[in-house]
Amino acid sequence: MVISLTFCVSGVCSYSQDLIGLPANKIKEVMEGSFLFKGAQIFYPDSQKIKTKDPTLDLTAESKALLEKQVNGLLILLSKEYKRKRNELETFFHHPMPTKLKTNLYLTNGKGGADVQGDGNSFRIDIDYALLESDFRASMINSLSAMTLARLRYKAKETGGNFTDTTATAEQVFSEFLEVKKEVNEYKPLTASDLLRGNMLVGMEYFNLADIGNAMLVLEKQYAGTLLFALAHEIGHIALGTVIKPDSADDKWTQASELDADRFSVLLLSNAFMVLGVQRIFVTSGQYGGFSGFGGYIYWMEKEYTEAFLGYGIFFDKGYELTYSRYPNFDKSPYPDAGTRLATAKDIFGSLYKSDRDKILEKFRRRQKWAVFNGYYFNRMNEAFNFLH
Ligand SMILES: [Zn+2]
Repeated sequence: MVISLTFCVSGVCSYSQDLIGLPANKIKEVMEGSFLFKGAQIFYPDSQKIKTKDPTLDLTAESKALLEKQVNGLLILLSKEYKRKRNELETFFHHPMPTKLKTNLYLTNGKGGADVQGDGNSFRIDIDYALLESDFRASMINSLSAMTLARLRYKAKETGGNFTDTTATAEQVFSEFLEVKKEVNEYKPLTASDLLRGNMLVGMEYFNLADIGNAMLVLEKQYAGTLLFALAHEIGHIALGTVIKPDSADDKWTQASELDADRFSVLLLSNAFMVLGVQRIFVTSGQYGGFSGFGGYIYWMEKEYTEAFLGYGIFFDKGYELTYSRYPNFDKSPYPDAGTRLATAKDIFGSLYKSDRDKILEKFRRRQKWAVFNGYYFNRMNEAFNFLH
């Protein structure tokens, strides 16, 4: 039995195999349309020097509009999923929940973090630009080694070596990213004369481009995961009726309602992220024996890999730190500490993973559905949600 498992980046093969086979301009299109690529253009356009202090203060009106569109898109996805999952969520929390969410999104500058206000009927969710940028940066730092490994394959002829530095500074992370952007834009697809001349190096560059694309799509899931987690948490406050503090509320009430909103968020997102975390390889018994047409895909899921896309890991770790370090006076004292929140979220995910993993994999086996997940982020997320229902 021969297992075909080539062109993996850090053990991550979920997209790579599917990008390979696409024309180079299509791979570029997928990469440039990625949520991550767009985030980089918003926070760190090529012409701009990296500003570590507070880049969000320099956002142009156009960038702000793009961000609003992105976050609103995610909110719409979540509202749809909430509607479909409401009964299940009500059962879990033993709490009646509104049938429809009436929410308006506002992006703020300098307020810090995210919150929700409302009168019990319609609500406004506020998300600070600094939170968006911090989570973007946290995702990049978290995933630097995967991205760099992909680049090293691409640049192997020049650099070689090994790069696994996970303690890189923000400057290093972004100069890395800008390099990737440049390479993607400079890539020239194979021409007929390359083929005639047997220019193998150009051919290898194609595979490396697919690898970079793969790494970017993984990072994209992590970045989007942090934003989805934050939004779903705020929806949790609305659904659980903890937007307005009762007169009798004390610190204990605050702590309990924050942890419940975190649990809600994980419950709302987990299955969709399990779908996005499914990996596959093609297995054949006759790959080199000329016996074609016999083989199939093996689908599998790994807990850590899938969990990496659920935003809470990055959100409560580096994202939290980066966001709140900007607001030293931001009073979060009645809130549970980040460690407790992370443990609570992991706990919920652990039990969902146990109960739902096999069901999701079975669905994949039955439907053999895959290609559609190569579309743009919103489509993939939408498909992931739809896949479950
Ligand atoms: Zn909250």
